[in-house]
Amino acid sequence: MIKLTRRQDEILHIVKQNGPITGQEIAEKLSLTRAALRPDLAILTMSGKLDARPRVGYFFNDNYEVKRQAEKFLHQKVTDYKAHPIVVEKSTPVYDAIVQLFLEDVGTLYAVDSEGHLAGVISRKDLLRASLGNRNLQELPVSVIMTRMPNIITINSEETLLEAAKKMIQNHIDSLPVVKEVDQQKNTYLLLGRITKTTITRAYLEIMEK
Ligand code: ADP
Repeated sequence: MIKLTRRQDEILHIVKQNGPITGQEIAEKLSLTRAALRPDLAILTMSGKLDARPRVGYFFNDNYEVKRQAEKFLHQKVTDYKAHPIVVEKSTPVYDAIVQLFLEDVGTLYAVDSEGHLAGVISRKDLLRASLGNRNLQELPVSVIMTRMPNIITINSEETLLEAAKKMIQNHIDSLPVVKEVDQQKNTYLLLGRITKTTITRAYLEIMEK
């Protein structure tokens, strides 16, 4: 994205307030000649910030603003939006995991092994499925019903919200564990946070409302 000069910013402001407005009128407002203004107007129209119509004049391109905001939103880093992960030990009974889900008001829990490495994902449907059988949920550990490594889709702190959104949509899942790799070959990861569909929606609202 190109950085605007002060004069170009002034022109944008004038057009935003007064558009459609002719080049001559803009020049008069800035006490400049039409010729002096020509290079700036060319830059602003070529970059899409202003639109120009013959015999009508210049007007502000609202689509450009929307596109700029959308781009800004999609390039936000996971690290700035990640939420606290709700974690259980993988030997935790399914019953306790369900209680935890309600207490923490989340849709997904993450299971860790005795070394604190990410071992599994336990979603609402995993817990519902386990509850449908006639099993003793107080005895059944979450490790039996969770989605395990190496099948867990993860994301790094430095990736973008766009990448997070793509991973969730492509894999039909509601959340991603934000991880730091410990050992790639052994598939060991430390859990740093979580990104959910709600995170993406909240970030979108925040940026669009600014
Ligand atoms: P819900 O069960 O509430 O609809 P999801 O759509 O996220 O939640 O989960 C659907 C299935 O995908 C579950 O079996 C869950 O274990 C699994 N799952 C959820 N998140 C991930 C992930 N990041 N990587 C791999 N599998 C996942």
